[in-house]
Amino acid sequence: MKSFLDERLELTNACKKIANDNLVKGTWGNFSIKVKDKIIITPSGYSYELMTPNDLVIINLEGNILEGDRVPSSEWMMHSEIYKKRKDVDIILHTHPKYSSIASVTMDEIPSLIEDSAMILGPYIKVTDYKLPGTRDLAVETVNKIGDNNAVVMRNHGLVTVGNSFNEVISAAHIVEKNIMIYIEALKLGKGIHYINDEDLKMLRDKYFKSYRQK
Ligand code: 13P
Ligand code: ZN
Repeated sequence: MKSFLDERLELTNACKKIANDNLVKGTWGNFSIKVKDKIIITPSGYSYELMTPNDLVIINLEGNILEGDRVPSSEWMMHSEIYKKRKDVDIILHTHPKYSSIASVTMDEIPSLIEDSAMILGPYIKVTDYKLPGTRDLAVETVNKIGDNNAVVMRNHGLVTVGNSFNEVISAAHIVEKNIMIYIEALKLGKGIHYINDEDLKMLRDKYFKSYRQK
């Protein structure tokens, strides 16, 4: 009898949603949920459309396989390092979506220009230095650059969003995409950009945690 049936089912459904929402192409990206000291994670290089609850792999924070016949995501270390550092995070989504990928090759930091971004992601989205995929270096760089925010762009690679529910991390990925698209389009207009000031950015983030977000 497999364990964590509810969580496996939720993660499987969320995999179908990210494929349907065009946040991932092919098998790239990975998705996990932490339950106590265990991580339920997608298998490496496996289709999101074909994913079933039995395909998911359960590992501990050291990467040892506790349950599952498939090879866990090659980015398990990145998931594990984020869970170790961010006790407020239960779910991690790594994708390679379009606008984040543009930012990953052109930008160092993306300001939150719109309220939803400031609330769910934080005041800005940092871009990591380039590190090869699946390495401890990438895991450490990602956890350092995400800081207290809920998203980070990985140089020449993709996006990580973190949170407490599948809806939250998927929404966060869409809002990163929207915020970067707005930034790129606004830069193209060349008319100057109205930024949210630091004090208001902080107020928006506080409001998200204190009164806006519902479990
Ligand atoms: P996995 O298929 O091994 O999860 O990794 C894909 C990827 O996006 C690597 O960064
Ligand atoms: Zn990747």
